[in-house]
Amino acid sequence: MSDLLLNVSATMSRSRANGPGVRAVIWVQGCTIGCLGCYSASTHPHRVASLVKPSDISEWLLSIPNIEGVTFSGGEPFEQSAAVLETIKLVRMKSPTFTVFAFSGYSYLELLSSTDRSVTELLHNCDMISTGPFVAQLRDKSLLWRGSSNQELHYLSNVYDSSMEEQWILESPTEEYSVQHEGIQFTGFGGKSSKVLRMATGLIGGQKDAKVLRKYRA
Ligand code: SF4
Repeated sequence: MSDLLLNVSATMSRSRANGPGVRAVIWVQGCTIGCLGCYSASTHPHRVASLVKPSDISEWLLSIPNIEGVTFSGGEPFEQSAAVLETIKLVRMKSPTFTVFAFSGYSYLELLSSTDRSVTELLHNCDMISTGPFVAQLRDKSLLWRGSSNQELHYLSNVYDSSMEEQWILESPTEEYSVQHEGIQFTGFGGKSSKVLRMATGLIGGQKDAKVLRKYRA
């Protein structure tokens, strides 16, 4: 049995803002890339957040009804490639069509040329990836699942392709929030000026114990 652990910053069981259809999202903890203007600063340190066995997180994914897959975000999923890969393999043993979308701050070329075998194998197990660092000067709110125009979507299996993007733009909100035990979890690409974030903050204004858990991707 593997002793790999996935260091997880946060999870969401159902999201429409982080990839095709309705999907679970796993934000991993730790990213060394350090894009200026990244709104996920709390996910940067490779400190222990929540260490989870791939077998446990794969069981959690399989227990969620009516989702088409999982999105790995962060943090940087490819800096925990072995544990992410094992999670995917375990899920696909029971659900072979479960789709995988991953965000990475590394360029596609950097990932392709990695000498780390688990990075290469993880690439082979993703259906789709969004790659490249966030560049604040190139910020563009109109992009699908990207924060700046240098970032790219790549299709790595025959499940999804670029002809679906027009439909996804209509179906996928750029921002969403959900009420969790620990506060309101916000995710999306709206940035600091996000209307949804301001609305969520307003909703909990005056409540001492509530907080907005911000989970942006750039
Ligand atoms: S945008 Fe992504 S890659 Fe860049 S610092 Fe933030 S988490 Fe890391």
